[in-house]
Amino acid sequence: MNMTRRDLFKFAGISAAAAAVTGCSTTAFDPLPAKGAATSLNTANRVLGKHQVVIIGGGWGGLTVAKELKKIDSKFDVAIIEKNDSFMSCPLSNCNLGGVEGFNLGTLTHDYDQAIEKNGYGMLTASVTGIDRVAKMVHTSKGSVGYDILVMAPGIDYNYKGQFPTWDAAKIAKVKRLAPAALVPGGEHIALDRMVKNMDEGDVVITVPAGKYRCPPAPFERASMIANFMKKEGIKGKVIILNETAEIAKGAAFKETWKEVNQGAVEHRDNCKIIDVDVDKKVITYVQTTFANKEDTVGTKQTLTQSYGVFNFIPHNMSSPVIEMSGVATTADGFKKVKMASSAEKPVSFATATDANVFAVGDVVGHAIPPSGQSSIWSGKECAKEIAHILHGKSYSVASSLPYKSANVCYSMVNGSPEEAIMVNHEFMVSGPVIGSKGSVPKGDTVNDKYRSTALAKATREWYAGAMRDLFN
Ligand SMILES: Cc1cc2nc3c(=O)[nH]c(=O)nc-3n(C[C@H](O)[C@H](O)[C@H](O)COP(=O)(O)OP(=O)(O)OC[C@H]3O[C@@H](n4cnc5c(N)ncnc54)[C@H](O)[C@@H]3O)c2cc1C
Repeated sequence: MNMTRRDLFKFAGISAAAAAVTGCSTTAFDPLPAKGAATSLNTANRVLGKHQVVIIGGGWGGLTVAKELKKIDSKFDVAIIEKNDSFMSCPLSNCNLGGVEGFNLGTLTHDYDQAIEKNGYGMLTASVTGIDRVAKMVHTSKGSVGYDILVMAPGIDYNYKGQFPTWDAAKIAKVKRLAPAALVPGGEHIALDRMVKNMDEGDVVITVPAGKYRCPPAPFERASMIANFMKKEGIKGKVIILNETAEIAKGAAFKETWKEVNQGAVEHRDNCKIIDVDVDKKVITYVQTTFANKEDTVGTKQTLTQSYGVFNFIPHNMSSPVIEMSGVATTADGFKKVKMASSAEKPVSFATATDANVFAVGDVVGHAIPPSGQSSIWSGKECAKEIAHILHGKSYSVASSLPYKSANVCYSMVNGSPEEAIMVNHEFMVSGPVIGSKGSVPKGDTVNDKYRSTALAKATREWYAGAMRDLFN
């Protein structure tokens, strides 16, 4: 993969201008190779330049850190490395699946050009393939980039291999293709959209994984939204949720909607562990554990099968492989959260525990906060403040801004006609060596004593418009 003139402009042009002011070196930045030389170029060894702050990932966390740094001091030399050439929002993607008015794949997609122009950071469209913390270099599919401070905001990956050790690469690839998880930005959302929109009849099955996973309310919102679409289009069938645990984020609020709005069109089954999937026959095999009472910790296991029309298979989640590439310490669980720094002076931080020059934001952080876009924006702003203080030779403690009310406000659209939504509100606080959180699910319609309300649906749309302004303007 060779770098185009446009890539170079986006990455080098702006950051080189910043470097001229700050004295940060971009001298090693290599222009396009001479005509005809491109094929013999060893891109892996090519040094593309050095920046004060390099951010891996142009998603919710990474874009926020970059913008905030430039807002604090326009002279900072900041560059993002992002593998996709456009941004796709996971938040509100369920509204597209639900056929909610005004939502389509275009509503979710944004180009990066406006954000780059407005905010003045650089961007390299390339995949990160390695990180050398000793040399302070990030290796990418297009060459290597040096840094003074590195921010890792690469989001999540799927852990099919850990969940199904006997599946080979071909089976995993086929399951990914024919039963897309649609939890990361990109083509999986387009594939799931095609499958739902082309469906004639049949049940839609959605799995909910155990362990930490991206946006805990998302699978349940998706169930409500797909049920909304099926009702609107007169498609026969229901949405079945196979939940590996019994936990439902915003549980009381979702259950209210499923009972009163969906009336049997959404069925939640708890403690269902997926054993196998036959994507050719469209059959899922799972074991459901039923517990007689609270004292029964073993339960009774039953092996069951479920056929489907569309399968949205959400496997166990884990941190993006970028985290492992960096070699920073992670938690021992399957997700491998980044261990965060903690000291008497700064009890909580977005610096990693392993390396004071390497920070992490977004879903990969080892704080006890919900993995959401809104948390990533809040964290991104705090992380930028920490880094800006370091670059200015000062000190800042994230603890000084805590406790913080409504640090995460997360809406879920549950009905399309009338448009209604529910919400959860999280306060963040210092909780030992990490940032902790406490959530509450308020009733949106206090007159009728309901969680869902049309006012919250309006707030959902406003939140999304505001978040997109935050990230791209
Ligand atoms: C269906 C759904 C609904 C959701 N709804 C909401 C909601 O209503 N509200 C809310 O607050 N949150 C919601 N979320 C959660 C939200 O999308 C995530 O929490 C948020 O995107 C996390 O931000 P991030 O920066 O950690 O990761 P991302 O936004 O995923 O960004 C990571 C970026 O890193 C890039 N990257 C990864 N690996 C590499 C590499 N090797 N090289 C270069 N680049 C790389 C990726 O391409 C990506 O652009 C929802 C999620 C889903 C799936």
